[in-house]
Amino acid sequence: MAKQPMLKFVNVDRDMPEKRDAKVRSHDFDEIYAEYAAAKAEEQASRCSQCGVPYCQSHCPLHNNIPDWLRLTATNRLEEAYAVSQATNTFPEICGRICPQDRLCEGNCVIEQSGHGTVTIGAVEKYITDTAWENGWVKPVVPDVEREESVAIIGAGPGGLAAADMLRRAGVQVTVYDRYDRAGGLLTYGIPGFKLEKDVVMRRVAQLEASGVEFVLNCNVGEDISFDAIRGKHDAVLIATGVYKTRDLTGPNAGAEGIVRAIDYLTCSNKVSFGDEVAEYESGELNAKGKKVVVVGGGDTAMDCVRTAIRQGAESVKCLYRRDRKNMPGSQREVQNAEEEGVEFVWLSNPVGFTTGVIEPEGAGAGAGRVRQAMVQKMRLGQPDASGRQSPEVIEGSDYAEEADLVIKALGFEPEDLPALWDTEGLEVTRWGTVRADFGSGRTSLDRVYAVGDIVRGASLVVWAIRDGRDCAAAILEDLDAPAAVAAE
Ligand SMILES: Cc1cc2nc3c(=O)[nH]c(=O)nc-3n(C[C@H](O)[C@H](O)[C@H](O)COP(=O)(O)OP(=O)(O)OC[C@H]3O[C@@H](n4cnc5c(N)ncnc54)[C@H](O)[C@@H]3O)c2cc1C
Ligand code: SF4
Repeated sequence: MAKQPMLKFVNVDRDMPEKRDAKVRSHDFDEIYAEYAAAKAEEQASRCSQCGVPYCQSHCPLHNNIPDWLRLTATNRLEEAYAVSQATNTFPEICGRICPQDRLCEGNCVIEQSGHGTVTIGAVEKYITDTAWENGWVKPVVPDVEREESVAIIGAGPGGLAAADMLRRAGVQVTVYDRYDRAGGLLTYGIPGFKLEKDVVMRRVAQLEASGVEFVLNCNVGEDISFDAIRGKHDAVLIATGVYKTRDLTGPNAGAEGIVRAIDYLTCSNKVSFGDEVAEYESGELNAKGKKVVVVGGGDTAMDCVRTAIRQGAESVKCLYRRDRKNMPGSQREVQNAEEEGVEFVWLSNPVGFTTGVIEPEGAGAGAGRVRQAMVQKMRLGQPDASGRQSPEVIEGSDYAEEADLVIKALGFEPEDLPALWDTEGLEVTRWGTVRADFGSGRTSLDRVYAVGDIVRGASLVVWAIRDGRDCAAAILEDLDAPAAVAAE
C-alpha cells in the first residue's frame, strides 16, 4: 500500500523558516526569514490534514486551493503545485511573504484549533513560487489571440497589476499609468525590504512588461494628463490609485519641523534601498540616524516605520499607541519582530502636542521650530463602543513629555478627493470618499470605468487588491464582449 504522505501534524511540529538573529537583521533591509530547504518544505506541507471543507481556503480572499498545493509539495510535485497556486493568485510569492496569515488562512487551520500549531501555509506558498522562478517556470504571458481593445489602468499597485495580468492573458492591450517612477505601488514604495525584498516585486513588473503591458510612469493623472483624455484614448478605464491622504496629528506645534508623514518616510527609505539619491535622506529630514524617534500609531504602517528607524541607526525608537497591545490593529507577529529589534512600545499613550526648540548638539536638520518633545497623555480603556471595541479614555493629570527629534505620523490613510482632483463629474464616491464600485466587478457609476483595491475598500490588504483586480478584469472582459454579442444576434 502507498505510504500516506499527509496528516503528519501529530508527529511533526510546526516549524517556520529560520528567522535571522535580531542583532544581525536590524542592520540591513534584507528579508528576515530564510527560505525553506526542499526537505523542510515537504515535511511542513505534509502536516496538512486535507480537510473535506478546508477553512483555510474559505478564509483566503483568493480562495486558494491550499490543500491541493500542500499535497503536491509534500509529494515533491512542485511544478504542479505552482500551477495550482498561480491559477488563483497572480502574486503567490508576495502574499506568502506579507499576508497577515494569522488572521486569514493560517488563523483558520483546523489543526491549529486542535492545538497542533497551524500548517505554515504562507511560507510554503512563498517557497513554491520562489522555486518556480528559480526553475524558469514563471513565464511572460503569451495570449492565444491579440484583441484590439485597450484598457487603461491608473495605478500600478497590486490591484492594477493583477488586473493587467488577467487582461493581457485574454489578449487585451493594457496601458498602466502611475505617478511614481517605478511600478508596484505600496509593494515598491510602502512596504519595506525586510518584509518584501524589492527584486521580488521588480521581477513581476518585468514579467508584465515582457507580456506586453505598457507602463507610463512619472505620469500623475489629473496633472500630467487628464482623466477625460485617458478615457478618450481607451475602451475602458480602471482606477486603482490606492489611498494616500494621511490622517493628521492635532495640538500645539503639530506642524513643527521633524514631524513627518509615514508614507514620505517609507518611500524615501525604499528609494534609498534602490540606490537612489534622495535629498531629504541626505539632509536628515527623512533619516532616523542618531535620532530619538517617536512613531505614532498601532497599525502595520507604524510597525514598518519603527523597524525602518532601527535599521537607519536611530538612537532610540518608541511607538506610541492609544490602546493596548491586545487592541492594536497591527499584526502581533510584527510587534514581536519589532521588540526583538529594539523598539519600545508605549501602550495607552496619546500625543496631544509638541514642544519645539534648538536641539543640541546642532546637527543635520536641528534648529528653531524643530520638534523636541511630544506631550503625551496616558489613557485607559473604557467601556466597549457599539462595535464592541473598548474606547480609550484620558487619565487626568497623567501627562508627561517624551523626548523626540523625529516624529512619524502613522495614523492611517484616507482617500484623496478624486472627483475634485480629476474633475470627473458623475464619478460617485461614498461618504468616506472611497470610489463607489460594485464589489465583485469594480463597476462604478461611469460607463466603462471601474475601480479596485484600497480606493474602493479604504486601506486594506494586498491580497484583497489582487482579488479585486482579478474579479474586475473578468467584468471588463464581459463588458468588452457585450456589444459584439449584441451585434451577433
Ligand atoms: C506601510 C504599509 C505597509 C503595508 N503592509 C502590508 C502588509 O504587510 N500586508 C498587506 O497585505 N498589506 C499591507 N499594506 C496594505 C497594502 O499595501 C495595500 O492594501 C495595497 O497595496 C493596495 O493596493 P492598491 O493597488 O489598491 O493601491 P497601491 O498599492 O496604493 O497602488 C496605487 C498606485 O496608484 C498610483 N497613483 C495614485 N494616484 C495616482 C494618480 N493620480 N496618477 C497616477 N498614479 C496614481 C500610486 O502611485 C500607486 O503606485 C501596507 C500598507 C502600507 C502603507
Ligand atoms: S494568499 Fe494570503 S490568505 Fe491566501 S493562502 Fe496565501 S498567504 Fe494565505
